[in-house]
Amino acid sequence: MEQIEQSLLELKDLCYSYHSLEGETIALSHISFQIKKGEFTAIVGPSGCGKSTLLSLIAGLDTPESGEIIFHNTGQPASPEQKPRIGYMLQHDHLFEWRTIYKNVILGLEINHMLTPEKLELVTKLLKDYDLYKFRDKKPSELSGGMKQRAALIRTLVMEPDILLLDEPFSALDYQTRLSVSSDICSIIRSTGKTALLITHDLSEAISLAERILVLSRRPATVKCDIPVHLTLTDNSPLASRNAPEFKDYFNLLWKEISDENYRQPEQSGKI
Ligand code: ADP
Ligand code: MG
Repeated sequence: MEQIEQSLLELKDLCYSYHSLEGETIALSHISFQIKKGEFTAIVGPSGCGKSTLLSLIAGLDTPESGEIIFHNTGQPASPEQKPRIGYMLQHDHLFEWRTIYKNVILGLEINHMLTPEKLELVTKLLKDYDLYKFRDKKPSELSGGMKQRAALIRTLVMEPDILLLDEPFSALDYQTRLSVSSDICSIIRSTGKTALLITHDLSEAISLAERILVLSRRPATVKCDIPVHLTLTDNSPLASRNAPEFKDYFNLLWKEISDENYRQPEQSGKI
């Protein structure tokens, strides 16, 4: 019971299928887990197993076939009236080229009629904190991929979401940019104490960024295992965590779980 009180989000026995003319595709099968407030959790699993489906159900974009999604900060099952604030970040930054970075960052506030002086102050603070202030009048195409992802994150954060849902937000970036941007973004999320759920197909990324990893099985996805990550670190940055002595053990453990699911052989980057 105590664990339930601490948790922000609870999934109970969630099932979901797609129906089309070709038939039924069972995507999720009896998924149950809880996410604590402030926790940074990664979800890994094979391509097509149902990860994005899971996130869209949590975001309330689709309705579960059976089972429940409960946000404990509202004390109610997810419903339009009781909806928590959800930040959703996808693979592509979805910045609009005809708007400046500043105009892109305030887009959500504008749409939701939330352009208050306090919110605009927060926008300025975040732009300054994350080194985008001097680029605020530039168009997205004038910025690097990493800067654009930072701008997309700021646009999400200014809405002050209760939970951040990140669906492979770094996979469109090249490997080197990805390392530094994922590290930057993770530090931003940690420093703001946000609850975050990150989908990634990169095992090393999951270990270095998250404090807990949920491994999903092949479709229909079930929770195969739930691994807490504890790394011995001298420097708390996600990049440095790749040098932690336990890193390799977590990698091997995750790889074993994944191999059991008949995945292909490991590549050096640990992508699945
Ligand atoms: P993942 O994000 O893990 O790669 P998805 O959640 O996107 O997987 O998809 C899970 C399964 O559901 C896949 O087999 C996919 O083909 C199928 N699927 C996804 N969206 C639809 C849809 N709109 N209609 C029918 N099947 C879908
Ligand atoms: Mg997906």
